[in-house]
Amino acid sequence: MARSTKVVTFDTDPAGPGPAVAASLALPLLRKAKVDTWAELLGALASGDERVLGVVGRVHLSAEQLRVLDEHPGVLSVVRLNPSVSVAVCPVCSEWFAVDGSAPARCPMTFGCVGKPVKAAAAKQVVVDAADLAGSGLVDDPTGEVPDGDDPGDDDGAVDGDGDDPDELEDFAF
Ligand SMILES: [Zn+2]
Repeated sequence: MARSTKVVTFDTDPAGPGPAVAASLALPLLRKAKVDTWAELLGALASGDERVLGVVGRVHLSAEQLRVLDEHPGVLSVVRLNPSVSVAVCPVCSEWFAVDGSAPARCPMTFGCVGKPVKAAAAKQVVVDAADLAGSGLVDDPTGEVPDGDDPGDDDGAVDGDGDDPDELEDFAF
């Protein structure tokens, strides 16, 4: 009766630069799927590899995390395992580049830039109960009821067709 489904989520910095967040998500996903590159991961999914589908099926990414992955295909094409390659992002000029060892002490991307690049590490994995995600706004559950408190401003019974997704398009603050 205790129907609990465990899902894997990843803890990423919502204010972190997109390329770094994309890399920090890609690395543990590759590791879990036991593939070396994002292309291999997509290939395995496309070919219906049941093991990889099973692994990915237990991972829950937030809409924001999915959007970040979608926006940084260039990052996904360089991040890999064996040998491990991540990306480093310069906090000053915001440029990113692939790094296989440690990040260089000085930004190599922009002439004269004094930024000290930060290498993206794999995001921390957090296993949660799927039921706990429902109220957190992380899950887009088309069948779920929105926990709807008494909204004093909305008691006229009118159906508003939009504006019901406040989490959409949060601004990235760099
Ligand atoms: Zn720089």
